Amino acid sequence: MSLLPFGKLPPAKPRTFVPESIDLGDWKQIAPLFEHLETRAAQAKSAAELDHWLLEWSELSAALEEEASRRYIAMTCHTDHAEAEKAYLDFVEHVEPQTKPRQFDLERIYIRRREEFPEPPVKQGPKNRYFVFDRDVKNHVTLFRPENVALETEEAKLTQQYQKLIGAQTVKFRGEEKTLVQMGRYLEEPDRALRQEAWELVAQRRLQDAEKCDEIFDTLIRLRSQIARNAGLDNYREYAFRQKCRFDYTPEDCLRFHESIEGEIMPAVREIQQERRRQLKLEKLRPWDLAVDPQNRAALKPFAEVGEMVSRTQKIFNHLDGELATGFQQMQDLKLLDLDNRKGKAPGGYQSTLPEARVPFIFMNAIGVQRDVETILHEAGHAFHAQATRGEDLYAYRGAPIEFCEVASMAMELLGNEFLEEFYAAPEANRARKTHLEGIIGFFPWMAVVDAFQHWIYTHADHTRAERKAAYLKLMDRFGGEIDWSGWEEMRAHSWHRQLHIFIHPFYYVEYGIAQLGALQVWANSRQNKVKALGDYKQSLALGGSRPLPELFRAAGCTFAFDAATIKPLIQLAGSELKKL
Ligand SMILES: [Zn+2]
Repeated sequence: MSLLPFGKLPPAKPRTFVPESIDLGDWKQIAPLFEHLETRAAQAKSAAELDHWLLEWSELSAALEEEASRRYIAMTCHTDHAEAEKAYLDFVEHVEPQTKPRQFDLERIYIRRREEFPEPPVKQGPKNRYFVFDRDVKNHVTLFRPENVALETEEAKLTQQYQKLIGAQTVKFRGEEKTLVQMGRYLEEPDRALRQEAWELVAQRRLQDAEKCDEIFDTLIRLRSQIARNAGLDNYREYAFRQKCRFDYTPEDCLRFHESIEGEIMPAVREIQQERRRQLKLEKLRPWDLAVDPQNRAALKPFAEVGEMVSRTQKIFNHLDGELATGFQQMQDLKLLDLDNRKGKAPGGYQSTLPEARVPFIFMNAIGVQRDVETILHEAGHAFHAQATRGEDLYAYRGAPIEFCEVASMAMELLGNEFLEEFYAAPEANRARKTHLEGIIGFFPWMAVVDAFQHWIYTHADHTRAERKAAYLKLMDRFGGEIDWSGWEEMRAHSWHRQLHIFIHPFYYVEYGIAQLGALQVWANSRQNKVKALGDYKQSLALGGSRPLPELFRAAGCTFAFDAATIKPLIQLAGSELKKL
């Protein structure tokens, strides 16, 4: 596919099972490989044979995923290219629906055969090689209920309805129709009256759909509770924890996390808000006063051309670590970066991996703002993770759980920020660091609201809308800080409607809080001993997903805990750092 920015990338290891000439967009050619794997699994006569079979299955999975990644990358780099779109949709509509049930069949067969040929127990050191893999596959198999398939389809349709509802929201602002995303930039305007006008227009528009959002959500709760009951679980919270393979922490740990945020982080949040209020010379902070620069300065301009962004980022990694610097240089040499904003490109940014070539790819829409610098450092962290697991042959272990993937990326933001002078003079570099650190601190309370709200919802599934509103407002009191919402109480009570995770990805959010604690610890360690902290970081990345979360954190030099004792010193460090900036 010539639509890809990079050239031919050979597999990291020559294929031994998937034929070289296969067309991975054609299910008829793929099906015999699944049949072959099913037969061969039944024939395995020893643990060693089963291990070997696992690698063949792994090879097929990686090849299929690489095909999907290539088509996705081509489409997002050329949204105006009809063939690229068709190729992607073809795969999603005709290949994936066929492979998914077959993959599930293989999982079932594998678990059965592994019981016949268990790994010999390990007396010392870490648990067995397949401990995490077996745990996840077994969980997936045992949680499956055929009667949930139809319910999940219904759930997907409802989340689509929500997305359609939100996506259609526009306002007429000064004679022009604008999406709510486009309205976001007016909240950064120094002119307060303008900000207020923009914010209120958006709030009114959101409130028009409040009833519809609540209706969709009521149905979602009913469906999800039924899905959990079908799987033999008490409530959807239990189901979600199982479905996300959260074996290393419990709902109670999350509740404790919320409490620690309330006790340890809220004082720092209030302090930041008070400083903002003083600098803006206001009596009270209103919801439209939160995104503007508190000193009314013009936006930072870190670079003019994307080429500059790349070469300066390269210099940051040169300062940081030789191996990481080589990794980033390699991505440039192989053209694994598509970073400039241009017509015909999908919005946003992501890091994707080509699982067979075992190389990372970064996609971005850089326009010359500080946010771009944060994004390239973040995505580079993910890319380093992919490079570090290159030697791992089990495909599932080349990816880590999200709670740790985001340690790799968020830690790289903090570590890279130490060298922002590559982009700025000292005062601007400090300004960028300050905004970044305040953003980290400010994220925790909202994360706690989103997470705690869902804990309440799914453990009180029979609640009324009035009870739900009261529960949410209680959380806004705990974690909202000192923002004056008077006149907009209804908006405050419905402010969760815009958080798509609550509708589309239930319980997916706390991961970012957990990972941020890891990232802050890596950063704190680097303050003590940069070489050791970087060494631990790289070593933990190389483990991929082969170990449970507490071990991954430990390898990175971090504690896997979300209690006050873990949070306190991190917030102290961030606070004392902020005072210096
Ligand atoms: Zn990320």
